[in-house]
Amino acid sequence: METTTIPSARTVFDVLVPIWPNAGSALAYRNCFELLVSVILSAQCTDEQVNKATPALFAAYPDARSLAGAGRADVEALVRTTGFYRAKAANIIATARMLVDEYDGSVPDTIEELTRLPGVGRKTANLIVSVCYGKPGIVVDTHVLRTARRLGLAPTDDPARSERMLGAALPESMWTAFSYALNRHGKHVCRARKPLCAFCQVASLCPSAEDFLSAACLK
Ligand code: SF4
Repeated sequence: METTTIPSARTVFDVLVPIWPNAGSALAYRNCFELLVSVILSAQCTDEQVNKATPALFAAYPDARSLAGAGRADVEALVRTTGFYRAKAANIIATARMLVDEYDGSVPDTIEELTRLPGVGRKTANLIVSVCYGKPGIVVDTHVLRTARRLGLAPTDDPARSERMLGAALPESMWTAFSYALNRHGKHVCRARKPLCAFCQVASLCPSAEDFLSAACLK
């Protein structure tokens, strides 16, 4: 019987991180407040689409204090193109109010504090602590989740479980670079539809490659 070999996270890290050495968030931002708001808006929306909406939003509301006092309808109009705009407008206003009330307008630097903010889950919290504060963070977005699953590194559809599995597989010092490399690899190579297995730099390590390549041949 044929057995499937799962590559080690370290082996995949050694291949992918040098290919995407400076990968970071693709969101446009000038400070932690803007990044936090942008990540909340990026739920179910592309970074490119968020980047088109945020210049007008941050021109009108440049910090937590101004956004905390904003009218819901005005904010809804500004974030409408990011989808789910009513919920997102409510979340960013409520988050801004918590930042003002509890953190003097600043963005906190721990996962525990960040995940208390409305609209902020572990993906967003990990991104903020890693990008803004240089702490280890595993940002499991849809690309990381899919790529880690196909590679057998985290065979799950649950982002929190994937984060735990990836975290256990590598030392903290590698977390941030690895999750961004997986993100870029998933976005550009291990795409949701029609992954580019024939050109993939980790195809020889990947337990899913043969299935995708066979399926492509049968078409
Ligand atoms: S071989 Fe295919 S499925 Fe595996 S990581 Fe590469 S693109 Fe994704």
